[in-house]
Amino acid sequence: MARSLCKWKKKEIEKGLHELAHIVDKPRYVCRDCARSAHDKGHLCKPTKLPLT
Ligand SMILES: [Zn+2]
Repeated sequence: MARSLCKWKKKEIEKGLHELAHIVDKPRYVCRDCARSAHDKGHLCKPTKLPLT
């Protein structure tokens, strides 16, 4: 399932919690459109790199 998190519906979030936990673990990218974050930019619709802290 390589669909961007931005397209996930409520039901899918509930069902895919385990997968979601993996996707958002140690986030490196954030979506400029909807502020979601993910480890890989492929999961976001408008990914931009998070500044390292
Ligand atoms: Zn997005």
